[in-house]
Amino acid sequence: MNISENIKNFQDELPDDVTLVAISKTKPVDDLLEAYEAGQRHFGENKIQEMTEKWEKLPKDIKWHMVGHVQRNKVKYMAPYVSLIHAVDSLKLLKEINKEADKNDRDIDCLLQIKIAEEDSKFGISTEKAKEILDSEEFKKLDHVKVKGLMGMATFTDDETQVKKEFEHLKSVFKDFSEQYVDMKVLSMGMSGDYKIAVDSGSNMVRIGSDIFGAR
Ligand SMILES: *Cc1c(COP(=O)(O)O)cnc(C)c1O
Repeated sequence: MNISENIKNFQDELPDDVTLVAISKTKPVDDLLEAYEAGQRHFGENKIQEMTEKWEKLPKDIKWHMVGHVQRNKVKYMAPYVSLIHAVDSLKLLKEINKEADKNDRDIDCLLQIKIAEEDSKFGISTEKAKEILDSEEFKKLDHVKVKGLMGMATFTDDETQVKKEFEHLKSVFKDFSEQYVDMKVLSMGMSGDYKIAVDSGSNMVRIGSDIFGAR
């Protein structure tokens, strides 16, 4: 794997308004540094402890994305530095993030993860649940957590029609949300196997792991 070449190819290939998040979970710090030196600044991890260890060692202008499922008792470890939390799925978690953001005297940006895949195994909430959260008085009181958009993962399948349908669905939900709620700007969808379809469907943030760093 030539990491810097992969980064450059993605920089050339992706439209300017699409943010590339390099998903570096399980990869050593040297691999991240190689991507950094090729100009990559957004990195994503799925475990808070691993992300924090890497944050301590790497340049401080890196933007750290938490893309995994978040346990409330671990929010405090990333609250001082995390840039965007992608997979928020409850008001309880938003409250915890708000509390820890406040303690650190900052605001933390989040995305709500919407369940779009047909498989049962994927995390995420329904569109209705997401609206219920955003419309609740309790949410409106949270001053230090900002919901900046939506995240989704398509079914893991070779059936491109299926994947396209799921991404198009999320795009229409996102359009609806951005008309109703302020701050809705980010649509995080697309991974190594399906980012082309995601970008065609309107994604403006892709999360690429193996196509940059090799298989895990
Ligand atoms: C691991 C992971 C990715 C990247 O997956 P690849 O197939 O390696 O590109 C993207 N999003 C999430 C939520 C992940 O956990």
